[in-house]
Amino acid sequence: MITVTGASKSYGDFAALDDVSLEIPAGTLTALLGPSGSGKSTLLRSIAGLERLDAGTVVIGGRDLTAVAPQKRGIGFVFQHYAAFKHMTVRDNVAFGLSIRKRPKAEIARKVDDLLEIVGLDGFQHRYPAQLSGGQRQRMALARALAVDPEVLLLDEPFGALDAKVRADLRQWLRRLHDEVHVTTVLVTHDQEEALDVADRIAVLNKGRIEQVGDPVSLYDSPANDFVMSFLGSVA
Ligand code: ATP
Ligand code: MG
Repeated sequence: MITVTGASKSYGDFAALDDVSLEIPAGTLTALLGPSGSGKSTLLRSIAGLERLDAGTVVIGGRDLTAVAPQKRGIGFVFQHYAAFKHMTVRDNVAFGLSIRKRPKAEIARKVDDLLEIVGLDGFQHRYPAQLSGGQRQRMALARALAVDPEVLLLDEPFGALDAKVRADLRQWLRRLHDEVHVTTVLVTHDQEEALDVADRIAVLNKGRIEQVGDPVSLYDSPANDFVMSFLGSVA
């Protein structure tokens, strides 16, 4: 469970997050959905510890992490524009987090093989990132983030730079991956269809505040206000 309580963050006198409280149940795939500038990335980065809140707390699995450094939060992160180690093969990229933790070689090999199979890249381990498609690269990024058994997986528009067809495929990959690994996952997206299609729960953000939280069907059928109704209703 991730519990954000009373989170506020301003840039100058602009409130990017305005007293946000949100519970993300363990094992769910929760989408943070909202228009551009609504505060999705700021909230996700605050959960990751990459952003310092002006007020509020972040508790993950019962531990108050508000003042804990990002690398000690047990979090895997995947961004829209993927940063791979270009000089390393797919296998070495996925293994990186385990190698720097000096895990035994046999354990690393087993883990990486498993993950590459789960994300459908088992034939690709000796390629370099430049020899992968955008969608394959994001699947590698997911495998790399999962390699160290994070308690929480945070995804900031991971499919945003890809075309619609590939994005739809990756959504299905993510769903299958989640059903297999069950790691608590938070997916930031501005794409209503993506959120409705893939998430167990959706939190709708607008102007730094949460408008509504619920499962896709209840949000779609019973929007709490005009904003949620018109935003969810604008599915292409
Ligand atoms: P998008 O869908 O475009 O990625 P978002 O919902 O992720 O949008 P955020 O990146 O969280 O939005 O930004 C929320 C607001 O805070 C925006 O108005 C943005 O301009 C502002 N903001 C974010 N980071 C900074 C910063 N470092 N300095 C100043 N303003 C910022
Ligand atoms: Mg963003």
